[in-house]
Amino acid sequence: QSKVENVESVRFYSQTNSHELKEKIELETALHKALENNELLLHYQPKVDLLTRKVRAAEALIRWQHPEKGMISPVVFIPLAEESGLILDIGDWVLNEACRQAAEWERSGLGDIEVSVNVSGPQFQEANYKAHVETALKASGLSPSLLMLELTESLAMHNVEASVKLLSSLKELGIGLSIDDFGTGYSSLSYLKRFPLDELKVDRSFITGIPDNEDEVRIVLAIIAMAKALRLSVVIEGVETEEQLTLLQGTQSDLIQGFYFSKPLAADDFRLFVEQFNH
Ligand code: C2E
Ligand code: MG
Ligand code: MG
Ligand code: MG
Repeated sequence: QSKVENVESVRFYSQTNSHELKEKIELETALHKALENNELLLHYQPKVDLLTRKVRAAEALIRWQHPEKGMISPVVFIPLAEESGLILDIGDWVLNEACRQAAEWERSGLGDIEVSVNVSGPQFQEANYKAHVETALKASGLSPSLLMLELTESLAMHNVEASVKLLSSLKELGIGLSIDDFGTGYSSLSYLKRFPLDELKVDRSFITGIPDNEDEVRIVLAIIAMAKALRLSVVIEGVETEEQLTLLQGTQSDLIQGFYFSKPLAADDFRLFVEQFNH
């Protein structure tokens, strides 16, 4: 009896896995064509200055408009792109498109909107990554000071010596460097100090519990104090409520990014948002 059950469950699981595998392969094949078919696009989420209450920056976030499946989240396809190596082409496209868009905003007088771009491990590990950034800046004409790269802790900690070198050489371009999802990785303070960073983004997971959870409030305050001691600009991610904003008001946070102000927007909607918000 139990033997039959086992056989059944093995069959059940292996069917599930082969189904999932098939779907994964299909998605990966479709992702190959997504770039040339113009199915990828960028949305931009405002980063609002806590003091002046103006949009000062935007994070570029990739979207995949699949012809049949609709919008696919980057949480689903970025890992696939990283596994398959497609992230190198996709990452280049993101970098160039974000720079092009920000340069257009800069030229059209929207105000100086700094654009930040997420960087994946494989891109960072390319031998000539700096040249890719330089090319995107030159092609777009964007002021380098209006470009920020967002790296994760694990990406930077993977090979600390190599990261210090690469980050320092990227800084020579005049761009900004940000550490994303801070608190979810395993960075040590001494290493963090060695990276030529400009900005630290406190991960959303620390914000969900505030202001009700006193422990989480204390943790957020401690992270902000630490970031300030390292002379970093502090971005709070995932601010959704008035109460969260009120609590952050009394801190040294610099920028607020979250659904409270706006979800990520298509480029045209972002422009309209800024025109109204910053008037
Ligand atoms: P991330 O870089 O940490 O980006 C912030 C994510 O948090 C975005 O999700 C954004 O929509 C979401 N978010 C912002 N404010 C709130 C809020 O108030 N509440 C909630 N619940 N969520 C909020 P998204 O766009 O789905 O992107 C997810 C992740 O995918 C990004 O996390 C990033 O790691 C990755 N990603 C997105 N675009 C790119 C890209 O162009 N290249 C690479 N390598 N990764 C990307
Ligand atoms: Mg990011
Ligand atoms: Mg983040
Ligand atoms: Mg994240």
